[in-house]
Amino acid sequence: MNDERQTTDFGFERISPDEKTGRVHEVFESVADRYDLMNDLMSFGVHRLWKRLAIDKALLKPGQKALDVAAGTGDLTAALARKAGDDGLVVMSDINPAMLANGRSRMLDDGLAGNTRFVIANAESLPFPERSFDCVTTGFGLRNVTDKDAALRSMFRVLRPGGQLLILEFSKPASKVIGKIYDRYSFSVLPRLGGLVTGDADSYRYLVESIRVYPDQETLKTMMEDAGVERCGYQNISGGIVALHCGYRV
Ligand code: SAM
Repeated sequence: MNDERQTTDFGFERISPDEKTGRVHEVFESVADRYDLMNDLMSFGVHRLWKRLAIDKALLKPGQKALDVAAGTGDLTAALARKAGDDGLVVMSDINPAMLANGRSRMLDDGLAGNTRFVIANAESLPFPERSFDCVTTGFGLRNVTDKDAALRSMFRVLRPGGQLLILEFSKPASKVIGKIYDRYSFSVLPRLGGLVTGDADSYRYLVESIRVYPDQETLKTMMEDAGVERCGYQNISGGIVALHCGYRV
């Protein structure tokens, strides 16, 4: 977002912040029912491995409390709920009721709703007490948030001392060769695939473009530090197509 908060990115377009929030809402409203299927098709199932690596890195212990922001259909929430166990608590939050409804059904089906709470919430202004979670995660969510700095400050605010923030997101491929193959695949295949499966090619065009305008690994690390997050670092996954950023409240 620029200094004046006049325009922000929506993929390669520049639009007002309010319009972006509305259009992101429309994207996920439109794809909610086919979201999981599309993730498997687009990534050949590899998104499951990316999420597994994020959960392996989570220090969450049985009995502790976690928050999954922009949780969508709940892949990370479900894994966190298993880690936290019956004595722990996981809050599944998302701004979009359609995505959260799918996530809630999934948690019920998986028998994990007992220690899970469901909250409609904007990542920019999380409605939870300060310093209340041992672990905060967001997977492929931050890219869609209009004011990313506000979201980072908000996620840090709710972290307990010793708490850990994990951000899993598409990022910048480390090599030009991987970048070129990836560009060709994503620009030519993904919108068509999205059109066939969900009837909404535009949402998948937005996905591809939004990744290109999202902060790279080092920029996001600096943004986390500016939000107050300490001991920030990241690891590239799949050659930097995805990065897992990690930080703490010491
Ligand atoms: N975390 C899930 C995953 O890894 O599969 C879902 C990710 S999905 C690509 C992005 C999610 O971000 C959507 O469910 C969308 O509703 C949510 N989202 C977008 N803007 C948001 C905001 N400002 N606050 C909270 N959630 C938001």
